[in-house]
Amino acid sequence: MSAAARQRTCAACGGRFRAGERTDIEVVLDGIVRYVAVHAGHSTFPPRRPAEGARKAA
Ligand SMILES: [Zn+2]
Repeated sequence: MSAAARQRTCAACGGRFRAGERTDIEVVLDGIVRYVAVHAGHSTFPPRRPAEGARKAA
């Protein structure tokens, strides 16, 4: 079962998912690794500064 199906609501905005709506899965590190579902284009992450996106390989 997908995270979206379990969750029913968006982790970012709290709105309910509608049938057939596109969703994304996001990894949240909250002491443990959790996967949360969000609407496509929504994010639980705060806006990143451009420089941080390039540091993945560190
Ligand atoms: Zn949302």
